[in-house]
Amino acid sequence: MNGILKAATALTCALVISGAMAQAPQQGTQAPGYFRLAVGDYEVTALFDGYNDLSPKLLQGMSQARIRALLARRSIETPGVQTAFNAFLVNTGKQLILVDSGAGQCIGATAGQLVANMQAAGYQPEQVDTILLTHLHLDHVCGLVDAQKQALFTNATVYAAKAEADYWLDPSALAKAPAGARAFFKIAQDSTAPYVAAGRFKTFTAGQSPLPGIVEATLEAGHTPGSTTYRFTSQNQSIVFMGDLVHNLAVQFEHPQVSIGFDVNSAQAINARQAVFSAAVASKTWVTAAHLPFPGIGHITAQGKHFQWVPVEYGPYKRAAKVPLIE
Ligand SMILES: [Zn+2]
Repeated sequence: MNGILKAATALTCALVISGAMAQAPQQGTQAPGYFRLAVGDYEVTALFDGYNDLSPKLLQGMSQARIRALLARRSIETPGVQTAFNAFLVNTGKQLILVDSGAGQCIGATAGQLVANMQAAGYQPEQVDTILLTHLHLDHVCGLVDAQKQALFTNATVYAAKAEADYWLDPSALAKAPAGARAFFKIAQDSTAPYVAAGRFKTFTAGQSPLPGIVEATLEAGHTPGSTTYRFTSQNQSIVFMGDLVHNLAVQFEHPQVSIGFDVNSAQAINARQAVFSAAVASKTWVTAAHLPFPGIGHITAQGKHFQWVPVEYGPYKRAAKVPLIE
């Protein structure tokens, strides 16, 4: 066999082998980022906007060695902890309500998937009539607008607690903010600006509801001055949207006294976390969180002084009323 023939034979073999391996090309994409849960007559849809990687050093109030050991116990050993941006739709049958809007175009290539996932879930942004913000940090407000700072939700009225709006949106707040925090104020102001200009940004005070009879809002100040939880109830079932009362699954349930560097007042934030966790344990209600692993829906249980997150299990939208019991 001469050299050319040998090379041709080798090439043919290589093509046959690679041809056989290419019969089922890898897809390289993830399942659409939505998850559905029925709460009474209400349909709740979790939407994945993206993620960022947070350093464990942001967790405070415990030695880094202990924090890293708690992370390792959950096989989280990377320098950055993947932290989801979850937002949620509630379809009451009469209103289509979005709770938080994700990080939009504010966090580079790893966020801004909210609208695509909303569409994959069967909804269009213009169908949203109400947006409830748990607070005005960029990973909750930036998704309100596109890269040109135009409103993405053209028919929606946006609600936030008055204490939250006063803190972030006061024009003088930007000038007074420390240099390192100015970007947060600017993004909060820019993201809400088109809604403010259109008269579709509204606030409510403690004890008031943005949608009386539909949602209960509770001020849980600490993470930010106007951090708010929202509770919906239908047919004796409830779901509480607790926003940023928790950031880390591996550490802050077992040790709710561990705070995060983004807290404006960490002592208050710790109290709010413990109070809302305890209430969720007692009421056995569904709970959602903006930064727990997607879909960020579950229950909270307690073991002694420690809390535990019990994530929702994937399954049909509504379980069959009667299923045969396998014994
Ligand atoms: Zn957040």
